[in-house]
Amino acid sequence: MSGALLSEDERLLRSTARDFADRVLAPRAAGLDKRGEFPWDNIRGMAEIGLFGLTIDEEYGGGGGTTRQLAIVVEEIARGCGSTSVIYVAHLGLCTHFILRFGTAEQKERWVPPLARAEKIGAFALTEPMSGSDSAAMRTTVSMKDRQYVLNGSKLFTTNAAEADVFVILATGDRQRRARGVAALLVERGADGFTINPQHGKMGMRATSTAELVFEECAVPESNVVGVEGEGFRQTMDVLNSSRIGIAAQCVGLAQAAYDCAVEYAGRREAFGQRLVDFQGIQWTMADMATDIEAARGLVMRAATLRDAGLPFVTEASMAKLFASRVAVHSADRAMQVHGGAGYFAPTTAERLYRDAKVTEIYEGTSEIQRMIIARNLLDM
Ligand SMILES: Cc1cc2nc3c(=O)[nH]c(=O)nc-3n(C[C@H](O)[C@H](O)[C@H](O)COP(=O)(O)OP(=O)(O)OC[C@H]3O[C@@H](n4cnc5c(N)ncnc54)[C@H](O)[C@@H]3O)c2cc1C
Repeated sequence: MSGALLSEDERLLRSTARDFADRVLAPRAAGLDKRGEFPWDNIRGMAEIGLFGLTIDEEYGGGGGTTRQLAIVVEEIARGCGSTSVIYVAHLGLCTHFILRFGTAEQKERWVPPLARAEKIGAFALTEPMSGSDSAAMRTTVSMKDRQYVLNGSKLFTTNAAEADVFVILATGDRQRRARGVAALLVERGADGFTINPQHGKMGMRATSTAELVFEECAVPESNVVGVEGEGFRQTMDVLNSSRIGIAAQCVGLAQAAYDCAVEYAGRREAFGQRLVDFQGIQWTMADMATDIEAARGLVMRAATLRDAGLPFVTEASMAKLFASRVAVHSADRAMQVHGGAGYFAPTTAERLYRDAKVTEIYEGTSEIQRMIIARNLLDM
């Protein structure tokens, strides 16, 4: 979005996040990706400039920022390092906001301040081996024994799991009731009967950790239920609807990085006696990429503005995620094409973005699920 359409505060925030992304994140991104290393220094650096508490209420040590501000920051972080942006969104948008929005006063006081400072890391686990898009079909069970909740089952693809101190876990108390039988519980790292098994071999976003979580008679104190038992699915949808705006912003950042690296390469590579960027065919590729990215950014900011105004935003958030993820994947593809053979080899930014972008069409609701949400809302089904 043109800076002229941002407020003074938003412009300042964008310039802080952009400077951090250019100076700190981008130079480290290739190495972290190659080593598959969790970017602790990035996380600490972001926490130092207040980004982990950006949208957390001031009473819990945050900055009380808006959804628009979060979108601006996520875009810049993703432009510098896709993996760091995934960690940020899963920690802040999924785990911390879940506790902040639905937790009891004690849960918020205990967990939100250290999460807002990134002294503790958060994760959110909904997906299971036998349920992803159809998340209400989950099989992880929660039952009551001796005044404690007991979890049994497993979760898959949990981002931040290897580092997380606290996990929001969705489990069913009654599978027959599907969405109405789900509860959200806070489970701490190290709880008896809770095992974390890292998953390896991800195509992209390799500096993030992803893991299977296994629960075997894992006892959870009664006080760890988030809000009301049976409300877990509704809470999850609420959190995912908002967090989706962050993922859409991440897509814009990845797409912008693809555009930037394509322009940079086309300005120095020569063919047929001139720079690539001097060919009209290449210029048109750049014009199309820039137009797509600006359209995606506009959809993201529209959804964020609606949410900040307390207006319905769910359809717009899904539209933003559907469109922006397609733009991210297509922009990464175009950037690689402009690089020719050089782009097919690591460590080029084009190669990394090509691998990083794809997952945005999959996680936090696949593109097919976004279309389902949009159609259901528009057609009133
Ligand atoms: C890197 C990574 C990180 C992740 N992090 C997390 C996390 O932190 N926490 C978490 O809970 N989950 C996480 N996930 C899981 C992610 O949200 C799921 O992979 C996603 O929701 C899709 O579920 P699935 O993989 O089971 O695919 P499925 O649901 O099995 O879908 C397979 C295909 O069928 C399509 N499909 C399904 N239903 C329909 C339908 N009705 N109509 C048309 N097409 C349909 C889907 O769109 C998809 O293309 C992560 C995944 C990845 C890859």
